[in-house]
Parts: sequence; structure tokens; C-alpha cells
Amino acid sequence: MTALLTVSGLTVAFGSFTALDGVDLAVEERELRFLIGPNGAGKTTLIDVVTGRTRPTSGTVRFAGADTTGLAEHRAVRAGIGRTFQTAAVFDALTVADNVDLAASFRLAPHRLLRRRDRAHVPEALERVGMAGLAERKAGGLSHGQRQWLEIAMLLAQRPRLLLLDEPVAGMSAAERERTGELLEEIARDTTVLVVEHDMEFLRRHARTVTVLHEGRVLTEGTLEEVRADERVAEVYLGR
Ligand code: ADP
Repeated sequence: MTALLTVSGLTVAFGSFTALDGVDLAVEERELRFLIGPNGAGKTTLIDVVTGRTRPTSGTVRFAGADTTGLAEHRAVRAGIGRTFQTAAVFDALTVADNVDLAASFRLAPHRLLRRRDRAHVPEALERVGMAGLAERKAGGLSHGQRQWLEIAMLLAQRPRLLLLDEPVAGMSAAERERTGELLEEIARDTTVLVVEHDMEFLRRHARTVTVLHEGRVLTEGTLEEVRADERVAEVYLGR
């Protein structure tokens, strides 16, 4: 099987500081992969490079068979790469439905945008995240969990092949975490998902493969049991 996303020898230097140092990572189609590591390990920087926000100093990114190293952010979206942020990037003054519609338009080239009249993708995306009943609410009035789900619906409307989620259950209640877990499992049936998440209970329930990043390098990779049994992982987290 060929990987949907392949990162090879990825290095990112900010001045004299090396945030990523020769990272190799391969994610297969329809994987639900977790990325963990202590603060400053380089997780966000890795997502930033894959989504075209940060240009690597060296190394390559291949996505869906093409070299996407240094791709502009809007081109990454059009190529089928979507991401969420720790603080949901939604427009408070717009309705839930309009947020989704707007996000979907980001994926379209301008000439297609002018001709687009079909809003069928809006209820479809809201249905998937369980928010069909909130379509006409202003996003500013949503709960924290609902904002995170709206952001995921906005990405789903862009029909991504790869979704990168940055701490999707941070600040959520137990019930919201449960619902988010079901949602990720459902999304991973037809979309590749890479999740940065620390919540151990969430990892226990949903992680199949875990990649551990530390000081800009891949420390180890495997099932949750395998990486938890690795002494180096314990040392990194205990700061010894
Ligand atoms: P993580 O997401 O694992 O916490 P980050 O990728 O955010 O780690 O950061 C990795 C390291 O790179 C941190 O030490 C951070 O301070 C540094 N870093 C991130 N972005 C920049 C930047 N734009 N300029 C300088 N240093 C940065």
C-alpha cells in the first residue's frame, strides 16, 4: 500500500533553533493516526509544513502521489488537505450554515465559485457532525464543543482527503469527548486523519498507531501499548 502522506527528512529551522530535525512519517489512506509529544516537540510545526503554512528548510512532503513541499496554503486546501486549530476558526457573526458554505467555497477556484448555487453540501456536512438542527444559529452563541464540531463540518464541506486535527477534545466535557471520538471514527472510514491529542483516555479508545515526537525528531512509533512500554517515552514525559 502506498502512503497518502509521506514526509521525508523534514527539517525546519527558525534562525539557529531547529524545530524539526529530519522527520520521516508515512500515513496510509484512511488511517486514524495520533501524534503525541511534550510541549515544543514540533507537532504544530509539522502540521504547519504539511498544510503549507511553514516552508521547510529541507526535506520533502508528498501527498497523494505529488510533491507538495512548500505548497501555498490555499493550494493545500484545494489539494484536499484540511486542518483545525486549537481555538476553532469560525466566524461568530455568521450562521452555522453560512460558516460551512463559506468554508466550502475556499476549495473552489474563483470561476467555479461564481457559478456555484448548490448548497447541498451544507446540510450534509452539518448532519455528519450532528448539528443539522443548529444551521440557522449564529456561531457566536455556540458552546465550545459545538464550535469544534462546526469547524470539522467546515472542513468536511471541503471534501478533504487528509484531515489534521490539533487537540480536538481539549476543554471538552466527557460527553463531548465521546461524541468527538465517534465522529473521528466515522470520518476515518473514508478520510485519512492525523490527530494531535494528549488525552490518554481518548488515545486508549481511538488510537491505532501513535507517533511520538520529541525535540523535533520521531522518538518512536507503534500501537499505544508499544509506545507506552518504551522507556524513552516515559523519560520524555517525566522530563528526566
Ligand atoms: P508543539 O506543537 O509540539 O508544542 P511546536 O511545533 O509548536 O511544538 O514548536 C516547536 C518548537 O519550535 C518550540 O520550541 C517553539 O518555541 C518553536 N517555534 C515554533 N514556531 C516558531 C517560530 N515561528 N519562530 C521561532 N520558533 C518557533
